[in-house]
Amino acid sequence: MTQTVKKVLIVGAGTAGMSAAITLRRIGVEVDMIDINPNWGALGAGLTITGPTLRALHQLGVYADMEDEAYVGEGIQVCNTQGEPLRTLDTPMPADSPTKGSGGIMRPTLHGILARHVKAAGAPIRLGLSVEALEQDDAGVNVTFSDGSQGRYDIVLGADGVFSRVRGLIMPDAPKPEYTGQSCWRLFLERPASIKRRTYFLGGPYKVGFSPVSATHMYMFLLERTPQVFIEPANFHSELAKRLESYGGVLADVRDSLGEQDNADINFRPLEIFSLPAPWYRGRVLLIGDSAHPTTPQLASGAGMGIEDALVLAEELGRADSVEQVFARFMERREARCRLVTESSMELGRLEQARAPVEAQTKVVEHALLILSEPI
Ligand SMILES: Cc1cc2nc3c(=O)[nH]c(=O)nc-3n(C[C@H](O)[C@H](O)[C@H](O)COP(=O)(O)OP(=O)(O)OC[C@H]3O[C@@H](n4cnc5c(N)ncnc54)[C@H](O)[C@@H]3O)c2cc1C
Repeated sequence: MTQTVKKVLIVGAGTAGMSAAITLRRIGVEVDMIDINPNWGALGAGLTITGPTLRALHQLGVYADMEDEAYVGEGIQVCNTQGEPLRTLDTPMPADSPTKGSGGIMRPTLHGILARHVKAAGAPIRLGLSVEALEQDDAGVNVTFSDGSQGRYDIVLGADGVFSRVRGLIMPDAPKPEYTGQSCWRLFLERPASIKRRTYFLGGPYKVGFSPVSATHMYMFLLERTPQVFIEPANFHSELAKRLESYGGVLADVRDSLGEQDNADINFRPLEIFSLPAPWYRGRVLLIGDSAHPTTPQLASGAGMGIEDALVLAEELGRADSVEQVFARFMERREARCRLVTESSMELGRLEQARAPVEAQTKVVEHALLILSEPI
């Protein structure tokens, strides 16, 4: 099949797009990438990485970088709102994965690792550029770029995130991203010696957790249901402290130290998603990553799903006889897994909001992680 697909355009050089550039170059496909951001990079927030995502990073060939530059470990510690340990969840990986079961990384670090591998793979990227128009025929796609230049490709990948321009071009009637009613706070800070692994504080008004991102640092996340989609950045410290009022132990320490934090280390973001009916392609244009299946972050698997998309696409390109067959097989392997992530995350959001018993919440996480640790 790689004979038929020789040249691919990837629109959007985030986690999914860069992963696809790496896997496609590996099977000898010529890749052009573009990204609309002239200051290409990633926001300074943290990402929690699950075992299945670590396995995907391993298959992508970047696990050693992850071990060197981020955090990898085992297990999830569950605590009550006062920071007292309740139980530890295992994060086992199947025998086919040589990776640990849990991890965390700062987004700019992951961006840097992937960008290095993309460069080494020989995939050129043009920045400050988007697509203006896509015109398909039986043999390829004619692309008009936003600077007026043109190109012709065998297939085009829309990896341009939740507000995807490519999706708008090929599926003008697709559902638009909508506010889920949940917002996420993230705070980057030094890791206290007591935090040895990913830690959740359950049973309170919010879902709060710590996720180590290196030997010395971690980020705190706090998920809340709120009609508010904007908070004045100058008030981030006091607003976050207010939300931590009923928490004790190590979270009380964080609350008390908030005044000393740099504003740039606090991030508040409303969560917007949509559910795109299958298939996630039209003709020779396929959507991957958040442009097809964005999720709220409860299962910490959004980035991993984009990396898996890239792995599966390259495998199927190596197997099938036509673009239609490749994309159909891609959907067969990707749809249920991605929906499991999206739906379990929304379910967790509902349980958190209802202050459901800790057991009910951990059951959803354990069930989803078990299925996600099956072969991709
Ligand atoms: C608050 C929050 C917390 C999260 N926490 C986690 C977590 O802990 N673990 C986890 O695994 N996932 C998490 N996620 C999900 C994760 O961030 C996403 O699933 C992942 O970043 C999606 O990657 P992507 O490459 O598909 O899209 P993006 O990362 O959005 O990348 C899209 C790229 O396309 C470019 N682009 C956009 N528009 C255009 C255009 N018109 N033309 C060209 N280029 C364009 C952008 O500049 C960008 O580089 C979280 C998400 C949110 C919102």
